[in-house]
Amino acid sequence: MRTKIKEIFTSIQGEGPYIGYKQVFVRFCGCNLNCAYCDTEFSQEDSTEYSATELAEIINKNTDCHSVSLTGGEPLLHIKFLKELLPLIEIPVYLETNATLHENLREIINFVDFIAADIKLPSCTGIKDLWEAHNTFFNISKEKNVFAKIVFDSNITEEEIELAGRLGQKYNIELVLQPKMDESNPLVNKEFMEKTLDLFLSQYKNVRLIPQVHKFLNVR
Ligand code: SF4
Repeated sequence: MRTKIKEIFTSIQGEGPYIGYKQVFVRFCGCNLNCAYCDTEFSQEDSTEYSATELAEIINKNTDCHSVSLTGGEPLLHIKFLKELLPLIEIPVYLETNATLHENLREIINFVDFIAADIKLPSCTGIKDLWEAHNTFFNISKEKNVFAKIVFDSNITEEEIELAGRLGQKYNIELVLQPKMDESNPLVNKEFMEKTLDLFLSQYKNVRLIPQVHKFLNVR
């Protein structure tokens, strides 16, 4: 089968514990969520269609990269295509996902090396709570190299901090707090960032605060 890919490019990973690694990014079209802060262009407009073989050939040329980042949009929406593509990939696979499509993850998890999974906070995304979906997702992904990314702003609630901390603790996964940013600046002040980190740390130790470094570096 063929699927529409928004863009393919190499760059430096700018989020989470793998910051600084060179990756080849493959951006899939479409997303099942509609987060208020989304700044990603993932529509099918100006996309290009590839077969799994064609795309794997392009990815596999990037032998100097740490991994291929499958991103979007939401790559797990394209599960049939991923089932064809992933067995053909010869470099490590890093999946960036909103951590909601757990049934699809189950089908391909054996082909994935790293999982960068979001915990979506209603206070920041403006969408309904996804705790149940995230819980099931982390239960499936916990054996892998997984971390959770939590985008937050000054509306974050103590209840959200407690629920997210509990998820981290339950599955022993690192939580990466990422302040919401505009083009290059955090939209949360320093005091609030520190206070939020402290509240997380008061219940769970494996938490770090890491902004989007690619924005400071002015790379994609
Ligand atoms: S899950 Fe990611 S890509 Fe989808 S709407 Fe939210 S921020 Fe945008």
